Amino acid sequence: AVPVICIDGPSASGKGTLAAHVAKQLGFHVLDSGALYRVAGVAARQRGLDIAPEHAPALADVARSLQLVFDGERVLLDGRDVAAAMRSDAGSRDASLISAIPAVRDALLQWQRERAALPGLVADGRDMGTVVFPDAPLKVFLTASAEHRAERRYKQLISQGFDVKLASLREELEARDLRDTTRAVAPLKPAVDAKVLDNSDLSVAEATEQVLQWWRQ
Ligand code: C5P
Repeated sequence: AVPVICIDGPSASGKGTLAAHVAKQLGFHVLDSGALYRVAGVAARQRGLDIAPEHAPALADVARSLQLVFDGERVLLDGRDVAAAMRSDAGSRDASLISAIPAVRDALLQWQRERAALPGLVADGRDMGTVVFPDAPLKVFLTASAEHRAERRYKQLISQGFDVKLASLREELEARDLRDTTRAVAPLKPAVDAKVLDNSDLSVAEATEQVLQWWRQ
């Protein structure tokens, strides 16, 4: 079997950065599953669809037929770069809304599993360890305080040229986490066999080293 390391956790806990560092050290591939839900949201909007449960069949069709290319910083949807749209506040919200629809999650399951390729995969998201890769040998549940997470996301967005406010960002972050943890399907929670890592006071290098240490055990 292809080795998979799962990194799940709430918004802006540093999953993507940690996944990238661990993958680089091990020479593994990376799956940013959040990007998939973000792009699905953008694609739905482009088709003029409301992201609501009553449109589940149409939204699942959109998810199933995504023509996606990840190219460095760029994310091409039908050949057009949607990186900015999917990272925006509206993009975050739409991703969280569309991800709560079971038919959409089902539509994206196979595609995610197919990303597991030798020599290995580091997968980050909300349900990597609980649903997508339940047999993964290492599952990390990455957390940080809401304050740390909001601040990190704030700095990230500002550096990318977005005009955002820290307070409203934190509100949106907590609303999204609440939706992600309380939804009926694949709610955000640590897998029973996950190792919990709070990186509020850890550098990226320290968090990476901890994961690599668990991996070598
Ligand atoms: O990780 P990221 O913040 O990019 O994810 C955006 C949204 O996509 C999350 O708030 C969550 O609702 C959804 N998501 C999910 N399952 C995943 C990854 C992301 O439901 N595995």
